[in-house]
Amino acid sequence: MTGRFPVLDPATGEVIEEVHDAGPEDAVAALDAAVAAQAAWAGTPPRERAEVLRAARAGLLSRIEEFALLITREMGKPLAESRAEVHYAADFLLWFAEEAVRVSGEYRASPGGDFRIVTTRQPVGPCLLISPWNFPLAMITRKVGPALAAGCTAVLKPAEDTPLSCLLLARVFADAGLPPGVLNVVTTSRPAPVVERLLADGRLRKLSFTGSTQVGRLLLAQAADGVLRTSMELGGNAPFLVFADADLEAAVDGAVLAKLRNGGQSCVAANRFLVEAPVADEFAARLAERMESVRLGPGDDPGSQLGPLINRRQLDRVAALVDDAVAHGARVLAGGKATGPYYPATVLADVPEAARLHREEIFGPVAPISVFEDEPTALAMANDTPYGLVAYLYTRDLARAVRVGERLETGMVGINRGLVSNAAAPFGGVKQSGLGREGGFEGIEEYLSTKYLAVDLH
Ligand code: NAD
Repeated sequence: MTGRFPVLDPATGEVIEEVHDAGPEDAVAALDAAVAAQAAWAGTPPRERAEVLRAARAGLLSRIEEFALLITREMGKPLAESRAEVHYAADFLLWFAEEAVRVSGEYRASPGGDFRIVTTRQPVGPCLLISPWNFPLAMITRKVGPALAAGCTAVLKPAEDTPLSCLLLARVFADAGLPPGVLNVVTTSRPAPVVERLLADGRLRKLSFTGSTQVGRLLLAQAADGVLRTSMELGGNAPFLVFADADLEAAVDGAVLAKLRNGGQSCVAANRFLVEAPVADEFAARLAERMESVRLGPGDDPGSQLGPLINRRQLDRVAALVDDAVAHGARVLAGGKATGPYYPATVLADVPEAARLHREEIFGPVAPISVFEDEPTALAMANDTPYGLVAYLYTRDLARAVRVGERLETGMVGINRGLVSNAAAPFGGVKQSGLGREGGFEGIEEYLSTKYLAVDLH
């Protein structure tokens, strides 16, 4: 059974467009196409694959306003942030175009000297790429870029809230000369049966997923049957540590960025602010002042600094987390009350350990602040979570920055910096935040396997 499903504007609730609602059979047809195109794409010279990625990047940037408006309409973020996302998305295409021609192997002597160990790198084969709604374009190019660069074909399943920028991206790739069948988009409002069907297909060789830990865990279990290669970019619960010796102005700037980028709807959003006692009150007051001045409004209004949350469910979740913290004794220093589809930039002080927002990913513009007395306590508090994606720390003491940075149980650490994401950097987590890395030299590795040829000398 197939039909169409509506894509809604989170600011107005209006239907932007209806898109094809694929069922499992459509998904199999998409995989058929990916499988059929695999050998020719893998055999296409790396330089030619790179040229397609470069042309797609140029196409993306030449339509930047169209993409930005589409992202804002389907996801809600302010236009300036949507433009920044288009640039970020385009960066992955450039970076992996550059990486495509540098995939190489090794030539070694066996220890006994009697044969040679030759290694080469091969594309893993047809991939399933699943993306979330929060960065509807960049989370896609972060997967499509390395997959295509490595010589893999793909079935791409965007989030049901935000399929429109993905569909436009597919058109840009077609215009850039990507052969039919290499990239196949499946839009669906019923991801579970569609994805389950694909994961059960023995022709699929790889799953790359970005989304919640809960769904990631489910898909890992499904992927286990086929012993599928997997990359998992999952949830986070980022601590943001401010030591008493920090440059407080820089720490507040970093806090606003790490909290409000994408309206807090980001896996790398600072989730818990841990501040050393002597500067805690001052940090809280300065952060509250900045957050209080943030203007709410629809993303396509140039005056808006914070757009609507993605949907009603998310709005209710954020409000419930704040109410729970307040019931546990937290003080509201800024914000704290929803208006329509908007949740304001909110600061909470004296947030006790028992509050739910210490343990759960907030995914909204809420900054809970807790106080610590010394470095070991700060580290213990920061690491007290099953997540391990990113942490931020502010200090002027270099030795402390390195010491604490190394002991934080996360895949990434922002040191005196509230933003870590970059196409050239290996993005990813430890613990329940995921497996594998996206971006950097590491990103393409996820789509390659090592082939070893034993060459006898006799
Ligand atoms: P989600 O897990 O609900 O959905 C992610 C994707 O999985 C979507 O495409 C969705 O359609 C699909 N999906 C949902 N249920 C499924 C099921 N039962 N079977 C198969 N597919 C299913 O996550 P979301 O709400 O779209 O995104 C928010 C989450 O993504 C947050 O937890 C955030 O931290 C995480 N995220 C992580 C990163 C990262 O790089 N680590 C980046 C962005 C977002």
